Formats: sequence, structure tokens, C-alpha cells
Amino acid sequence: MILIQHKSQCCGCAACVQRCPRQCILLEEDTEGFLYPKVDVSRCIDCGLCEKVCPVLHPGTSHAPQACYAALHPDKQIREASSSGGSFTALAASVLASGGVVFGARFASDWSVEHAYTETLEGLAAFRGSKYVQSRIGSAYSQAETFLKQGRRVLFTGTPCQISGLRRFLRKDYEGLLTLDFICHGVPSPLVWRRYLQAVRPSSGDTSLRGVSFRDKEHGWHSYRVTFRYDHASVSRYFYEDPYMRGFLADLFLRPSCYACAAKSCSSGADLTMGDFWGIEHVHPELDDDGGVSCILVHTPSGARALQQIPLQLNSSTYQEVVQYNPALEHSPKASAARRSRFFELLAHQGVISACEELTRVSVAKRLLKLIRSLLGKVRRRLLR
Ligand SMILES: Cc1cc2nc3c(=O)[nH]c(=O)nc-3n(C[C@H](O)[C@H](O)[C@H](O)COP(=O)(O)OP(=O)(O)OC[C@H]3O[C@@H](n4cnc5c(N)ncnc54)[C@H](O)[C@@H]3O)c2cc1C
Ligand code: SF4
Ligand code: SF4
Ligand code: SF4
Repeated sequence: MILIQHKSQCCGCAACVQRCPRQCILLEEDTEGFLYPKVDVSRCIDCGLCEKVCPVLHPGTSHAPQACYAALHPDKQIREASSSGGSFTALAASVLASGGVVFGARFASDWSVEHAYTETLEGLAAFRGSKYVQSRIGSAYSQAETFLKQGRRVLFTGTPCQISGLRRFLRKDYEGLLTLDFICHGVPSPLVWRRYLQAVRPSSGDTSLRGVSFRDKEHGWHSYRVTFRYDHASVSRYFYEDPYMRGFLADLFLRPSCYACAAKSCSSGADLTMGDFWGIEHVHPELDDDGGVSCILVHTPSGARALQQIPLQLNSSTYQEVVQYNPALEHSPKASAARRSRFFELLAHQGVISACEELTRVSVAKRLLKLIRSLLGKVRRRLLR
């Protein structure tokens, strides 16, 4: 039966929970807000299935992708609502058009993040855009299996470890399955997110939250903003000013498995990987209108076929061009146990904003440098247009 010796050995994919024939594994939230499986040993029949499906115990092998592209959705509005170039929407719409089902992460009614599915184009909007919080996978793998057994096409999107978990859970290839992961920096704690939602809420007026965007492009893709929309107000900051994003990017509250990720370097088994094509201004400056460009890595013939059937504008690139500005493709963030535990100590005693600010303080000189770089980038892009 599954026994977690160290928290870095569980990515929280819940493949074990969903595969257990006795349904005797539950997920429990730890003090940092992450879910871990716990076996009811009195009901366990020691069948070993939970260990067989675990993607951390059985990691995949890394390989070089078959092809790499810079990708842009032709519809500007879709690109604006997406985190990078809108590649997810293009793939998802094509699967839906053939009567398929699309799985991904969306906000639940309490603004936590959950995995769910949609069978309609309207339903896609909720999945669009990155949510920088670990999603609860729930029973998404079992639901996907049911659709696949019915002969439906399924697009399953998620973190590389969620895709590895799905592949091991299914234990066989289905013709109708297309899997899409993304270059993954790591997933933040749902507890920290809950605390942040409370902390940013305006103190007066109508405080009903109507929308959250981690990648608001109103001021451009390079200088994206984090925006909370309420009935009559909104709170919006550049990502480098937003305390939660600064804490996320400084790796203060990622899941322990993210510091030793078992699904790096294209080893998840996904058909396709998407990401932000950071550095596009150096690689293909003619594509960079500051509206967002995706990179797409192709790993399998099914992935290549799926790309041929969609209206994305694709520009051939090399793996080196993608990885040089996106180290998360190959490397896990460096863990600093001392900073991480200091963060959770501060979270408990001083609150989330103060904890993030204290541990991500940036000198005035660095801020000035960032501002100058961002202005120079804007001028360059304008001259190139
Ligand atoms: C936690 C996280 C870390 C990331 N780290 C990097 C990185 O280091 N480098 C990089 O280039 N790109 C990273 N990305 C991916 C990037 O932000 C974009 O999602 C990607 O460029 C695709 O954008 P798009 O415009 O094609 O589609 P979008 O519409 O933006 O794509 C949304 C897709 O992401 C899925 N998704 C959103 N939030 C989650 C979540 N919490 N858990 C699982 N799936 C989710 C949705 O289901 C959908 O499939 C990360 C995304 C997330 C969620
Ligand atoms: S060994 Fe079998 S019964 Fe026991 S927890 Fe694992 S899957 Fe469930
Ligand atoms: S990584 Fe997934 S399958 Fe393995 S123990 Fe954790 S939740 Fe279970
Ligand atoms: S960094 Fe690795 S372990 Fe963490 S969420 Fe991403 S794929 Fe999973």
C-alpha cells in the first residue's frame, strides 16, 4: 500500500485514490494546505494497485521533442483571454467540434481551483488562463476513463505530474485520448491562495468577487497583471508588484514535490507541451506584438496530427530556443528549507501579505532596473511593428 516517507515523494495527483478498488484512500490537507493520501489500513486488501499507478514511484523517461513551434491563435480576443498564445483554446475547440470532452482546471464557486470537464465551447472559458494554485484533481481520471471507454475523444490538460498520473491510472493507450501539459514552474499551496483571497478583498463596498486573472494582458503580455474584479471595483497590480505572485516566483510556497519534480524534461508522457514562449523578442521578434506567444513541443504522432487540424499560426523553432528562456522545462526550483519554513511561520503570525513582502523584498535599484528594462522592451516592440 502507498506509504509516503517524505512529502517530496507525492505530487498529489490522486491516481492512487481513484484506482483503489476498496476506496480506502482519502486525501487529507496538511498544515501547508496540500493534499496527501491516507490509507484506512483496516480496509486495505494489500493489492498493490495504488503503488502501481503512482507516477512518482514510476517516473517516465525524458526525451527530445519531435518538433517545437511558436504558436499564436488567429483570434486576438482569444489570445487576450489566454495566458500566452491561446494554444489551449485552439486544441480544445477542435476536440469539442468532433464531439469530444475537455478536462482542465477552473475556479470553483469558492475560488479554489478544481479539475473538471466541459463538453461545450461556452464551458471552455472557465478553463482558459493559468491559475497559479494546485488544482484538486477529484475524480477527473475516472471520469476521463468512462468517456474513453464510450469511444469519445478526450483532451486532458494539466500539470506534467497530473498527466503522468492519468497515464499510469489508465494503464493502457486509448486512441481517443490527447494529453496536453505545460512547462511547469510548480504549484502553490491552496491554503496560501485562500488566505490571499481574504487579504486582498476590499474592506468596504460590495466585496463579491466576480473574476480573477493571474495573467491580465491589459498592459501587455510581458508586463502582465494580476487582477481581482469585484462588483464595483477591481484590485490590479503588475505581477512583480503583487505579493502572491512574488512569493510564487520566489518559490516560497510550492508543493514539496515541485522542488524535486519527477516529470521534468518531457517525461510526463503527454502528447503535447505548451508554455509561454519567453524570449520570443530575441528568437522571432517579428511575432512579438506583446499579445502573447505560446511555445508548443510535440512528443507523439497523435500530438502532431492534432496540431495539423487546428487554426493556430505555427512557426518552426528549436528546443534550444525554447528552453534557454524557460529553465522550468528541465529544472526544478531550488529548495530553501529555511526560507520556506520562515514563510509558513510568518503566514501563521503576520498574515500572507506581510510574509510574502518580507521574503521577497527588492532593492530600489533593482526595481528601477526592471522598470527601465520594461520601458525599453515596449519601445523596441513599437519600433518593430
Ligand atoms: C501552475 C502553473 C505553472 C506554470 N509554469 C510555467 C512556466 O514555468 N513556464 C511556462 O512557459 N509556462 C508555465 N505555465 C503555463 C502557462 O502559464 C500557460 O498556461 C501556457 O503558456 C498556455 O497558455 P495558452 O495561452 O495556450 O492557454 P491558456 O488558456 O492560458 O491555458 C490554460 C490551460 O492551463 C490549464 N491550467 C490552468 N491552471 C491550471 C492549474 N492550476 N493546474 C492544472 N492546469 C491548469 C487549463 O486547464 C488549460 O488547459 C504554467 C501554468 C501553471 C498553471
Ligand atoms: S493496496 Fe490496494 S486496497 Fe490497499 S490502499 Fe492500495 S489500492 Fe487500496
Ligand atoms: S503521487 Fe499520486 S499516486 Fe503517488 S502517492 Fe501521491 S497522490 Fe498517490
Ligand atoms: S513542478 Fe512537477 S511536481 Fe510540481 S506541479 Fe509541476 S509537474 Fe507537478
